[in-house]
Amino acid sequence: MVKCPKCGTEVTNPIKTWPLPRRFGKQGGKSELVMGLFECPNCKARFRAAVKAEAKPEETISIKNMVERIKGIKGELMQTLKNLREKIKTLETERTCKLDD
Ligand SMILES: [Zn+2]
Repeated sequence: MVKCPKCGTEVTNPIKTWPLPRRFGKQGGKSELVMGLFECPNCKARFRAAVKAEAKPEETISIKNMVERIKGIKGELMQTLKNLREKIKTLETERTCKLDD
């Protein structure tokens, strides 16, 4: 979280972020510094601030979300498959009935 330099309001989310690769340091580019453009919701001041690259927890969350989404899609697909099978069954029954006529 970053504080507005003008009024001190805490701004949670940057409007824009861009990575600043660290050219120095022992980790050899593995850790990235992220710059963020923030807009204060209170005084509308725009300012830049460095955001710590905390990509890992976000990544974990997004992967978790993805897994949940995939689970959801899978469930929907299973439902669709079930519906299709039922439709085919109905159609086959109808066909048989027509043949019987
Ligand atoms: Zn402000």
